[in-house]
Amino acid sequence: MGVPVIGCTCSVCTSVSSFNKRLRPSGLIRASLGSYLIDAGPDFRQQALKFKIENLRGVLLTHCHVDHIGGLDDLRALYFLQKKKKIPCLVSKESFEELSFRYHYLMHIFEFQVLENDFGKTVFEGIEVAYVSYFQAGMKVNGYKIGDLAYISDIRDYTEEEVMAPLMGVNTLVISAVRTDPTHVHFGIEEATTFSRKLGAKKTYFTHIAHELDYEKTNALLPSDIKLSFDGLQIPIKI
Ligand SMILES: [Zn+2]
Ligand SMILES: [Zn+2]
Repeated sequence: MGVPVIGCTCSVCTSVSSFNKRLRPSGLIRASLGSYLIDAGPDFRQQALKFKIENLRGVLLTHCHVDHIGGLDDLRALYFLQKKKKIPCLVSKESFEELSFRYHYLMHIFEFQVLENDFGKTVFEGIEVAYVSYFQAGMKVNGYKIGDLAYISDIRDYTEEEVMAPLMGVNTLVISAVRTDPTHVHFGIEEATTFSRKLGAKKTYFTHIAHELDYEKTNALLPSDIKLSFDGLQIPIKI
């Protein structure tokens, strides 16, 4: 929902710390080939202005819940800026079908690359991408591994062996953990920590964080290699 949550007066929502201000989860990979966006939630416009996203080589979508695709309309600005060059977009077959229905009026600005399987590797706009699949409330979700980074959001219902095998030993893991306790569709801190430990990730950042978690207080309780992320966090990765 973003933090502060509308109408909430809890200590995190009313905190003055910029680390407790959270726009909807998203990632941006800045590589020599160009910039790659992971998800375009309802705050994409604000994020693009704040972090000066002026061109995109491609967009990778994890799934079609609004907190991850609600900003797709605002990619029109980049489409026009890039002289109506279609924006490459990597999606699952299920996401493609959902987008075709919900964004039927916007499909012309994208050039879709549809994942052929649930698990595998592909080359997307010059970068090698390994992908895994799992489900959230019945919706197919994709996690991606790009170079030594894995971005796994909105995970709870998954087949451990299939999902973990391609991610084993990853250097940096970005994984959703919304609060201390899990919800029916999201990891809590303990589950996300266990997931990270099983992979042997060297560094783990939690994303998709709700207002239950105060940045400073939560980080003080976490092991040194696992931290809450924050808006604008930059992580060096190797592709
Ligand atoms: Zn709150
Ligand atoms: Zn989500």
